[in-house]
Amino acid sequence: MTQRREIPFGRPWMTHREREAVATVLDGPILTHGPHCSAFEKRFASFMGDGAHCVSMSSCMAALHMAWFHLGVGPGDEVICPAMTHVATAHAIELTGARPVFVDCDASGNIDPVAVEAAITPNTRGITLVHFLGVPCDMAAIMDIARRHDLRVVEDCALAVGTRLDGVHAGLFGDAGCFSFYPVKHLTTAEGGMLVTRDADAAVTVARKRAFGVDRTHADRSMPGVYDVDMLGMNCRMSELQAALGLAQLERVDEMLARRRENFRVLSEGLGSLENVRVLGGVSGETSGGVSGGTSGGVSGGTFGGEAGAAIGAGAQSSHYCLSVVLEGPLSARRPDLAASLRQAGIGFSVYYPHPVPRLTYYREKYGWRDGEFPNARAVSDSSVALPVGPHLGVGDMEYVAETFSNAVKEL
Ligand SMILES: *Cc1c(COP(=O)(O)O)cnc(C)c1O
Repeated sequence: MTQRREIPFGRPWMTHREREAVATVLDGPILTHGPHCSAFEKRFASFMGDGAHCVSMSSCMAALHMAWFHLGVGPGDEVICPAMTHVATAHAIELTGARPVFVDCDASGNIDPVAVEAAITPNTRGITLVHFLGVPCDMAAIMDIARRHDLRVVEDCALAVGTRLDGVHAGLFGDAGCFSFYPVKHLTTAEGGMLVTRDADAAVTVARKRAFGVDRTHADRSMPGVYDVDMLGMNCRMSELQAALGLAQLERVDEMLARRRENFRVLSEGLGSLENVRVLGGVSGETSGGVSGGTSGGVSGGTFGGEAGAAIGAGAQSSHYCLSVVLEGPLSARRPDLAASLRQAGIGFSVYYPHPVPRLTYYREKYGWRDGEFPNARAVSDSSVALPVGPHLGVGDMEYVAETFSNAVKEL
């Protein structure tokens, strides 16, 4: 048997560059909302390309909230929201007073455009979505629905640094894209986020709204301390310490993404053709053909969910946040046993996401929950395990994870 390893699900990759960058800020006069933030915004915009304008934020949740606040949704409005996402996607809508209207995902875990269209009412003002595990949503279909019904679109890109569709980065299809720099995400600033838009004017206004709505920056004030406020705002600025971390991380983004891609490939090949195990997180051709679904009917069979994958086509690029395995058929109730085997072998794992959002107590109590609802989201929440592929891990680690997981499945 292979020697035991310790494999954390996520571990920030820090180098002397991050340490030096933070120390430089500490030695200087400006601790927040200064030149490092501007430089990070510019650098992130050039990484994304296609005329992106970036506004640094205190978190992804703050960016999502800001996006809907800026777009002006409020009480009486509805925003269509994926059931399979982080609670932040829904909270951002709820905080404005609008109502999130949940729809199920397809077998890939991404929001189902057919369900989106079916959920539209006269009160619908927008659509939000998450590029689940870094796999791009079917943006052609979603933007087509949005145009036909005059709806605003906010993309939750918390797992989507490096996600592209036909060369266009995630976050640049809708009105705004929101990124997270929380520690286990692709890049980290400890806490932090970025709001991205192609609308240059919106970026300027949002930048002011995230700093109390003050009409001029420190640099623009002829009399220190004197300013006016002509709009409602909040404080969700990023600090210079965080931006310095982000700049240092961004220098290695291509290498980080390449490591994730290679780790994902090795792990998915290593899992081979396990019966009743379906792999999520990759796009067409990335999961070895044998990793297919089993017996549970409609949602099984494809390498990452079949039709959804086919629909987004060959131009789709995943950011490989993790490799999630959905247990199907007789395996679907055996997650606790597999989790125990992984834990014993020193392998960190997680669940993305642990509940369909409408099943979380706050939303269940407010809007109700029926047991048969959202079957695809429930399958992901209740029967999947997310395995690590982060840049802190190498090919040997992936072989170890694949062997451990395969043996555990066979021994069940
Ligand atoms: C992590 C995550 C968030 C929250 O990001 P923060 O930066 O911690 O606010 C939002 N949406 C999704 C999909 C996430 O995975």
